[in-house]
Amino acid sequence: MSSATEESVLIAGAGPTGMSTALALEARGVPATILEAEPEDRDRSGSRAIYVHGTTLRTLERVHPGLAHDLVEEGLVWPTRRTMWRGKKVFERTYDNPGGHGEIPHFSSIPQETTEEYMLDALAEAGVEVHWDCAVEGVESSEDGVRVETSDGREWDAEYLVGADGGGSTVREEIGASFEGDQSENSFIIADIDEVEDDPWPLERLFHYDDPSVGGRNVLLVPFTGGWRLDIQCHEDDDPEELIEDERMREFVRTVMGERYEENVTWVSSYKFLQVMADTFVDDHRRVLLAGEAAHLLAPFGARGMNSGIADADEAASAVAAAIDANRPTARDEIELYAARRERAAEYNLEAAGTALEYLQGDNPITNRRKEAAAALADCFEPAGEYLDDAPYGPHTAPPIVTTGNY
Ligand SMILES: Cc1cc2nc3c(=O)[nH]c(=O)nc-3n(C[C@H](O)[C@H](O)[C@H](O)COP(=O)(O)OP(=O)(O)OC[C@H]3O[C@@H](n4cnc5c(N)ncnc54)[C@H](O)[C@@H]3O)c2cc1C
Repeated sequence: MSSATEESVLIAGAGPTGMSTALALEARGVPATILEAEPEDRDRSGSRAIYVHGTTLRTLERVHPGLAHDLVEEGLVWPTRRTMWRGKKVFERTYDNPGGHGEIPHFSSIPQETTEEYMLDALAEAGVEVHWDCAVEGVESSEDGVRVETSDGREWDAEYLVGADGGGSTVREEIGASFEGDQSENSFIIADIDEVEDDPWPLERLFHYDDPSVGGRNVLLVPFTGGWRLDIQCHEDDDPEELIEDERMREFVRTVMGERYEENVTWVSSYKFLQVMADTFVDDHRRVLLAGEAAHLLAPFGARGMNSGIADADEAASAVAAAIDANRPTARDEIELYAARRERAAEYNLEAAGTALEYLQGDNPITNRRKEAAAALADCFEPAGEYLDDAPYGPHTAPPIVTTGNY
């Protein structure tokens, strides 16, 4: 008899995708167990995915009633969009009711760390077990299920495995899938700045093109509960490591937000953004599914990273629940449908984030002319200013719905 622990569904990774997958499975009556490489008291600093989209909130509310309400209560909705072009204002709009009229607002701006804390509470309420310090090291699938080996020497048997183990996914490697795509030319500096309670900056999302006060770099400032996210787009010949040194960061923050914020940098990092997706989201036996950053990495403009990871999670749970109920050939179809849908969604999301990235990198002469023309017209023609305000985030549209048929 096998000494392996038997589970219905295993999930690799307790990031937002893995935790949402477990909640979405529990909501469909399928017990799930999470295997997480890191210890329970790990540091998850960095505000990261602050923009939780309304559709994501509705998904989370559906799979665990109350969760989205917590994220809405804890998060904030900024009412103002403002855009500057080389030191001059080209667009500003303040909404009376920025969240909309429904119970769930259009978005909630909240540090990812806080979102994850609420997800962990939700897992405890739903009775989902998380095994910490338990990295997935080996995956072997067959027509009947999947066997997983973890770093603590244990073996696990399950009907299905969802690989939600992030960009460096072991599960992806184990099923023989690989990332394909490219990376941004520029580096980006991303910093978190603590709010100054007694004299806060107005609640606005600010984009400044070629800000002359920071050497003509693009600057994005976005509020979240308790602080601000500052993104600075480096020039191609910048050395980002030099720019994120303490004194340089204090100087940036002093220039962009004022002296009162300069000592409030709590986290800073620099990135080149990868734009990649796995060449397949499922294994040959249709027993392993990749979701979230294990399946795709996107530049963050347009906030498609965590939001699309949670959409993957919900679809993966739906497919696995249907497959468990189905007879064998139909079960395969359910998993293939997941791959068809989410691979197409990832392609679409990559294209959308790529459009934003190309726009920001400024190496397309037609786009550059369009920006210049819009900036020149913005004073007398509001749609030109609105174009400048909107374009850095790429298209707002959702991925198309995919079926396995031709139509
Ligand atoms: C600076 C920055 C800014 C961002 N901004 C945004 C934004 O504005 N909007 C947005 O939507 N997204 C944003 N993102 C992306 C967002 O943070 C990610 O999309 C999100 O964290 C992905 O979630 P995930 O659960 O798929 O992967 P992760 O969060 O990476 O979680 C993977 C989990 O798997 C665990 N793990 C790894 N290997 C193993 C293993 N072998 N076995 C078991 N467990 C394992 C890891 O420890 C981790 O807990 C940003 C990211 C960064 C870095």
